[in-house]
Amino acid sequence: MPLPQSFPFSQSSLHDFETCPRRFKLRYLDRLRWPAVEAEPIVEAERLARLGQDFHRLVQQHLIGLEVETLTAYLTSAEDELRTWWQRYLAHRPEALVTATLHPELTLSAPLRDYRLLARFDLLAVLPDGQFLIIDWKTSRQKPQREHLARRVQTRVYPYVLAQAGAAFNQGQPIDPAAIKMIYWYAQFPNEPEQFDYSLQLFQRDEQFLSRLVEQIKNSDFPLVESHQPCHHCVYRSYCNRGDSAGPLTELPPEAEPDATLDVLALDWEQIAEIQF
Ligand code: SF4
Repeated sequence: MPLPQSFPFSQSSLHDFETCPRRFKLRYLDRLRWPAVEAEPIVEAERLARLGQDFHRLVQQHLIGLEVETLTAYLTSAEDELRTWWQRYLAHRPEALVTATLHPELTLSAPLRDYRLLARFDLLAVLPDGQFLIIDWKTSRQKPQREHLARRVQTRVYPYVLAQAGAAFNQGQPIDPAAIKMIYWYAQFPNEPEQFDYSLQLFQRDEQFLSRLVEQIKNSDFPLVESHQPCHHCVYRSYCNRGDSAGPLTELPPEAEPDATLDVLALDWEQIAEIQF
């Protein structure tokens, strides 16, 4: 199946392809919404997803200038977990944010071969010394190993897209990859953020990696993944005859835990077209 022209790749879709080519096809090419749950118990999975989204919204409102007192007052009837995450954010968010110019919930798009690569940052912070911090707020209950995070598609895609498409935040000049840092900040582990410095060498490595991956997708016939492991937490498992019931929430990999992540299907195509290159 040919990829539509200007197909918008994202870290989520590339990650899905790496996990299972068939999942990529069903979700992004066939756009098949399959009514299954990813993990059981569903009530708890939905609660965690809602809390993660509430936390992201809260932080975004703070970053666009709403007073701490106002936001804290909103939380009087909120769940304890959300109130705890908020207090941790206030006490332990990266100090550099105080003097930075902040761009929360920013979506950028860069060309990638004949297609487009989208990245939506929870926050881009431009520091007075010319450094650029991409910050991703995480509410997952587990924190992956640093080596695992380093290999994540997200850790490659976000700095790459900023280096490619961030000139508007650097007086019209391309951003030097060495000025970019990617930080994962965990509400459950507020003293243990993971920071990854970028560089020209990593930019070139990622360009090759992403180009190869897109070429692979272009030529793929989207087979089912060999291992049945990813199917336990996949909404398409009954469609693919890979089981009827969802795997336990406790065994969900951290990158798949309920959280607020970019869902390209949720963006309408006009909105994508307006996103700056
Ligand atoms: S159920 Fe398994 S084979 Fe089917 S799309 Fe999901 S991960 Fe792939």
